[in-house]
Amino acid sequence: MNKKTLLAVDDAEINRKILSKLFSNEFDVIEACDGKEAFDILVKRDGDIDIIILDIIMPTYDGFYFLEKIKNSAEYNNVPVVIATTDNSPEAEAKLLDLGATDLIYKPFNPQNAVKRVKAILARYEAETQKIKSASSLENRHNIVMRQTNTFSAEYDFETGKTFIDPTYSNYVHRDFCNIDIFDATSMIGLIYRPDLDAVVSFLNINEVSETTQRFINVRILTDNNIYEWFRLALAIHFENGVKTRAILTFNNINSEMEAIKKLEIFSSIDRLTKIPNRNTFVEKTQTIIEENEDSKFAIVRFDIESFKIINQLFGTAEGDSILKFIAVKLQEIIEPIKNATYCRITSDLFAFSIPYDNEDLLNTVIDTLVAAVKMYPLNFDITLSFGIYIAENSEYSVRHMLDRAGVAQKATKNNYKTHISYFDEALREQEEIEITIVSEMKKALEKGEFKIYLQPKCDMRTGKIIGSEALVRWVHPTKGLISPRSFIPIFENNGFITELDYYIFSTVSELISKWRDDGLPILPVSVNVSRADLYDPNLFPNIVKIVDKYNIPHEYIEFELTESSFISDNHKLCDLTYNLQKSNFHVLMDDFGSGYSSLNSLKDIKVDVLKIDINFLPTSTTDERAGKILASVVSMANDLDLKVVVEGVETRDQADFLISIGAYEAQGYYFFKPMPVEDYEKALKAQLDL
Ligand code: C2E
Ligand code: CA
Ligand code: CA
Repeated sequence: MNKKTLLAVDDAEINRKILSKLFSNEFDVIEACDGKEAFDILVKRDGDIDIIILDIIMPTYDGFYFLEKIKNSAEYNNVPVVIATTDNSPEAEAKLLDLGATDLIYKPFNPQNAVKRVKAILARYEAETQKIKSASSLENRHNIVMRQTNTFSAEYDFETGKTFIDPTYSNYVHRDFCNIDIFDATSMIGLIYRPDLDAVVSFLNINEVSETTQRFINVRILTDNNIYEWFRLALAIHFENGVKTRAILTFNNINSEMEAIKKLEIFSSIDRLTKIPNRNTFVEKTQTIIEENEDSKFAIVRFDIESFKIINQLFGTAEGDSILKFIAVKLQEIIEPIKNATYCRITSDLFAFSIPYDNEDLLNTVIDTLVAAVKMYPLNFDITLSFGIYIAENSEYSVRHMLDRAGVAQKATKNNYKTHISYFDEALREQEEIEITIVSEMKKALEKGEFKIYLQPKCDMRTGKIIGSEALVRWVHPTKGLISPRSFIPIFENNGFITELDYYIFSTVSELISKWRDDGLPILPVSVNVSRADLYDPNLFPNIVKIVDKYNIPHEYIEFELTESSFISDNHKLCDLTYNLQKSNFHVLMDDFGSGYSSLNSLKDIKVDVLKIDINFLPTSTTDERAGKILASVVSMANDLDLKVVVEGVETRDQADFLISIGAYEAQGYYFFKPMPVEDYEKALKAQLDL
């Protein structure tokens, strides 16, 4: 064991020598000749002096000076100081002890006793400070922990039967708490939130407890503000020799945590607007129910309000919100009583529910009740719901996937004015399979050149002569054969791939025209389609110019077919693009004229060169007088505006004759030509020119 260090302070060298000799067996002794030197040593040997023997009477810096200095210093006041003195009067002793001396020894020293005495003083001192140190730091730590964790405690002594409550309790709970008996829950009636009381009674029942244990419970306790707040109670029972000695009950106020958790729970499981379960909750619950009922079928239904956007625009979003809340309440009323049924609001005006499905009866009843309930909403507008249904026969697919399938079915109702209910059927399943193939293979297909151009000639109906063509893309799939653009273009428009594909088509068409020029073939304009999704590429126009100019062909050979959109913001982009294209000598066609809501309106702003009217967008056949009149007036309006007209979808001679009679001469339709591979188009053109 290391020797302790003793500092001997005495102005008389002889005394220092005596002290050194006496203590050197037990201590490393350092000598100082006065109070000042002693203090310097103390500072220099920072923390390394275990005890000091101090002479009082010294010249200049005496013992009093040193004692005062050391007791006033925060760093060294814990070093024990033993005074070596000749004055054994009680007054002198009292004075020195008051000044902070740890103890006194008397000169002249008795060699044996002096050392023993000093050692005893040191041991006692260390034991005491150790106790104080640990006691005070424990108390401090305890208090800090209690304060920081919003905790107070109560202690029960089984021997005396007395309860001690930490006085800080009044910061947390009602003042009546001082009267409680820890193990008598009835003494807490009124203080504990009534619904929690039973749980507290059994929590406090320790009859069965036979060894040191700890248990926890969360309860609501009355505070001095007369509100109930959440506390976590921890009960520790201590045993000694098989007998209960103490019980410590700590009360930890966890109200803010509980509030936060509650909020979190609400936000993550409940839809904020309608207060019914949200999509996550629905998916989770439904998943469990389906898995637990492997042998049962379920109908997973998605529904929304038709034209909800328009309702919002007409009546305001507050009214829109109110309708959503109304539907949520009705949905809850209808679904809640059904066993193993779930429901939710997905987002916006989209809701879902799942019910057991033995046959259509229950499902039909639910839908009919819901539709009837919604009809009762007081609004000067017919609120129509459209439903997509997926029948789950097992849990092979996730509920999310089932919801997606219900969504696919629901979309199918959108193009159908007669029915608002549609099932996910075999045809949609095949469609889904195609979609999966399409998305997973599209990039490779483009690289491998599987996207081919077909050209559909446009002709003058009076002569039947080809005057140009439209490039229509086809996917020549190695195993699935020819895939129609109607099955992949909408998917590409959704995932953005359409822009890449359109650039490829622009480039291929430009290359084709440059080839015709090189081969000495007559060149007729070819139109290409610009998807509305392309408008979101900020470099669309410069890219078009770059692509076409790479082949060094006159711009008037390429025409761009644009479709108007029902969104005003898109129309600004459409307007800019039209302007830029025309400035660069490209022709612009308004495709599918008459299909949108604002066709006539947009003509005001977007000054295209050609109107493409799809004859199939007219309500009925052209033999219908009204439809004919509409078509005739559109054609005459176009003539007035100096717009060329091309009529698409001409399938019969009758249609062609009628169109000629109203002054529309150019057509693109199966009656004249179907879309064809490039080689066939070239042949047809050569035949026409007798080449
Ligand atoms: P669209 O631009 O309106 O093209 C005309 C569509 O009508 C073509 O369908 C054409 O084959 C079809 N059609 C032509 N004559 C008749 C007829 O007499 N009767 C009937 N019932 N249909 C006729 P297709 O080739 O299936 O293309 C469908 C749509 O796909 C196109 O409609 C266009 O919107 C889009 N599309 C085709 N190719 C491209 C492309 O390269 N890029 C973009 N963005 N869209 C394309
Ligand atoms: Ca087109
Ligand atoms: Ca068209």
